[in-house]
Amino acid sequence: MNTMLNPTHDPAARSWLASANQRGGDFPIQNLPFAVFRVRGTAEPFRGGVAIGDQVIDLARLSQAGCLKGLALDAAKAGAQTTLNALMAMGPAAWSALRHGLFGLLQADAGASVQQAVQACLVPQSQVEYTVPAQIGDYTDFYTSVHHATNIGKQFRPDNPLLPNYKWVPIGYHGRASSIGISGQSFARPKGQLKAPDAEVPVLAPSKRLDIELELGIFIGQGNAQGEPIEIGDAENHVFGICLLNDWSARDIQGWEYQPLGPFLSKNFASTISPWIVTLEALAPYRVPFVRAGGDPQPLPYLDSAANRAGGSLDIQLQVGLQTRRMREAGQPDAQICRTSYRHAYWTVAQMVAHHTVNGCNLQPGDLFGSGTLSGPTLDQAGALIELTQGGKNPIALPNGENRTFLEDGDAVVLRGWCEKPDAARIGFGECRGTVLPARG
Ligand code: MN
Repeated sequence: MNTMLNPTHDPAARSWLASANQRGGDFPIQNLPFAVFRVRGTAEPFRGGVAIGDQVIDLARLSQAGCLKGLALDAAKAGAQTTLNALMAMGPAAWSALRHGLFGLLQADAGASVQQAVQACLVPQSQVEYTVPAQIGDYTDFYTSVHHATNIGKQFRPDNPLLPNYKWVPIGYHGRASSIGISGQSFARPKGQLKAPDAEVPVLAPSKRLDIELELGIFIGQGNAQGEPIEIGDAENHVFGICLLNDWSARDIQGWEYQPLGPFLSKNFASTISPWIVTLEALAPYRVPFVRAGGDPQPLPYLDSAANRAGGSLDIQLQVGLQTRRMREAGQPDAQICRTSYRHAYWTVAQMVAHHTVNGCNLQPGDLFGSGTLSGPTLDQAGALIELTQGGKNPIALPNGENRTFLEDGDAVVLRGWCEKPDAARIGFGECRGTVLPARG
């Protein structure tokens, strides 16, 4: 588990690129997250890039520029491809070598010739478009917030909200990778089978209870051979990094279809991720202890380690904003409807990896895990409308006088994430935005 701080975490470090030193910025020199991009509106090939300030470092150009060498250069070349899978497959030593190499090129005292060479590899973020950064072979969605599981459970099963396995098993289901899209996407409201509680038979109709799920996405780096579980002590070495994930959900389709095999068409019409993947090395200053409330069972030994207890959780601040069509037309920004932190999750990233592979299941580079909806302990920390509005009974009031129970056509939802504390650099995730379009005729 990579908990050690090194010179790339120094909160006093500055870059020669002024926009990287701006207070409150998402992408200082201590962050260096990865995306796949190209200049917007061109037919250029997509390639990997790294965020610094308001720029993207083009890894394709940088790997030709002659300023990296050794493992850092090999990693930059792997990251220059149209997906990050090859870089992901190289493992933590390569990711770290590239991070340290980039840090050296970007820090304030880098030589003039280095600055000039790197300058030629920068593209303004305002001019680029992004794509899904990996060929995602498999997508697994977990359910790691006990608060979400309890709140949702109350609505689907009032007398039996939290099932007895929850505190023992990191619950998950296999989702669908083909419909994962990048921030900025819009999608049509899904149709599906809906059955009102008092109706005899279901009808096929557009979902009336379209919801969000505030999640983090965890990209797997190196995989494992089938039959060879990843032990918890090694689990984070298989994690490339973390992004924001909105797992859009149609609650009415879900309510009718979910038993006995779990969510299906209520979840697989669209999921949106943020373009930037923040590495675990960048997040090292924001580790917090993993603790179980008194009276809860301790994890089984394969889900437990001293390192996981000491620092397996991450204090990532999360926010959900909603912007209706009317707000957008009036030039009003999105309004915050939820604020929480990833630290409240019941299971850690390392526990998800160890559990997923304990039966011998093989992970592959570029696989994506969803954390599950990250609701915190109080109602204003709930990461889904079904919780925030108590199943649609208590609408949310928006600043312009509109209110919402579930999403309406034209609504845009923006997830944001960042880490911040006095003795460390701010590490931002950028944003994850998606817009609901009317159902197709
Ligand atoms: Mn989900």
